[in-house]
Amino acid sequence: MTRNLMLTALLLLSGSIAAAQPKVIAHRGYWTTDGSAQNSLAAFDKADSIGVYGSEIDVWLTADKRLIVNHDRIYQGTQIDMESDRVRLITQIVLPNGERIPTLKAYLKRVASKPDTRLILEMKSLSDLRREDLAARKIVRTLRRHRLVERTDLIAFSINACLAFRKLLPEARIYYLNGDLPPRSIRELGLSGIDYSSGDLRRHPEWIEQAHELGLEVNVWTVDSEEEMNYFIERGVDYITTNYPERLQALLKR
Ligand code: MG
Repeated sequence: MTRNLMLTALLLLSGSIAAAQPKVIAHRGYWTTDGSAQNSLAAFDKADSIGVYGSEIDVWLTADKRLIVNHDRIYQGTQIDMESDRVRLITQIVLPNGERIPTLKAYLKRVASKPDTRLILEMKSLSDLRREDLAARKIVRTLRRHRLVERTDLIAFSINACLAFRKLLPEARIYYLNGDLPPRSIRELGLSGIDYSSGDLRRHPEWIEQAHELGLEVNVWTVDSEEEMNYFIERGVDYITTNYPERLQALLKR
């Protein structure tokens, strides 16, 4: 009888583990929908409105040492450069949905007003390491000011940036993006996990299991087709970052 109960409990447990589904992260916010734009405040609102786990943004440090939210270094169709121009000029840029490029401060104010959605904050690789260290310090200070440290995951392609965040926030969840290091190295660096491109993880599918065995988490970007969503759902990644969060949510419901 006791043995049967234990077996049942084990079966239930393994069932719940197998059923653990990846969490949905909207890449640059939910921007592939009406009235939105990449990295806009609306993109965070829209991500929040569909109940995703998290919404991602990209952050630069301007020439006058301010933090702004945008993806490309040079804004498409202009010569405005996120690193070598000043915040006053950069925030004149009008996004496709009519908003202007937001400062990180404005963005965090919005995030703070929507407590159900995590922020996934990518710090872009900057032109020199000292600027990266400065940007990391400023990002952490701004997160603290808005009481968002616990609700934010930090991600970066630059190992220097990841380690700068680790030093400043030993408890934070920090993930490396560049796809060139095996989970064992990420563990040694004291980071929380890998956040690699679908191409890198398809070349190294064994890294998913290796990461989990080391107590690390796995996020994958940017997964937009159902075929690729299914591939990574089956392999048990912890997070999927996508430009089509509702497509992924529908797939996960099936
Ligand atoms: Mg990004």
